[in-house]
Amino acid sequence: MSLETDFQQADARIQPRFAGVRTFARLRHVPSASGLERVDVAVLGFPFDTATSYRTGARFGPEAVRSASVLLRPYHATHAVDVFGTLNCVDAGDVPVAPGDTVETFARAQVELERVADSNVFPLVIGGDHSITLAELRVLAGRHGPLALVHLDAHGDTWDEYFGQPYFHGTTFRRALEEGLIDPQASIQAGLRGPLYAESDIGEAREMGFTVLSAEDLRALGAGAYGDLVRARVGDRPAFLTFDVDFCDPTVTPGTGTPEIGGFSSAEAQGFVRALVGLSFVGADVVEVSPSYDGPGQITALLAANIAWEILALLALRRRDREQTSAS
Ligand code: MN
Ligand code: MN
Repeated sequence: MSLETDFQQADARIQPRFAGVRTFARLRHVPSASGLERVDVAVLGFPFDTATSYRTGARFGPEAVRSASVLLRPYHATHAVDVFGTLNCVDAGDVPVAPGDTVETFARAQVELERVADSNVFPLVIGGDHSITLAELRVLAGRHGPLALVHLDAHGDTWDEYFGQPYFHGTTFRRALEEGLIDPQASIQAGLRGPLYAESDIGEAREMGFTVLSAEDLRALGAGAYGDLVRARVGDRPAFLTFDVDFCDPTVTPGTGTPEIGGFSSAEAQGFVRALVGLSFVGADVVEVSPSYDGPGQITALLAANIAWEILALLALRRRDREQTSAS
């Protein structure tokens, strides 16, 4: 696919970064209803926080991440790839939601996400509480079959129910498993820590088939070995990457729904995501940004914007390497 000037970032040498209407990374706003021809990646906000168990506010996450994303530049020096020069990326706006009604929100969002998937466009979703991933997985598993889940989070989100409600931000991956959307044998959760209700919180996830790495496990493993483990586990299967910002320490991401101490630095988070080269991702999200709890300088939103860009870099790298392979 050729480079499309329509899909480049606004030029910061012409209009400074603090000016203009906020879109992700200063990309063009192209609603999916107007057609996504020639688009590779659509960034979509999912402004929803009805399924939070503690702090609300993630409905404002997409807006905050867009604001923090204006500093993103096109070239990724570590991967040596021009992200926006390789992929045609747009900001497709926010998916429709029904505040207060999780089931109805998923139904509305799935219509929008189906339209994106119909266009063969990669959805990169900015949340929103972690319940929203279920809607994304429903649409993508409908296209690709059960997905390998690559999950970075302080929590496994495999609890059964909250206050009698099956759809909550801590139940997402148990529901996804029950609905046949993910293949637990090809899935890996990492970064878990903090007080639990019981040993069974993690034990049950392992019984379901997930590989579960605590924060201590992951830290001991390091980024390189983590990447190797994920590639061995996932192989060539279609995969979904979900990054809950509470994976990082609350000193780095205070603006989130359920913070846990003992988390990762921004540099460590970059390293773990950068290690995920060579996988066949078909969708991804960055979730649980709750701006009203963020610190000075909006550091949580800044981290989320940069993690989203790291995910784009993985996609750009794969695209470039495939084109080089097919050309040779
Ligand atoms: Mn989560
Ligand atoms: Mn979490």
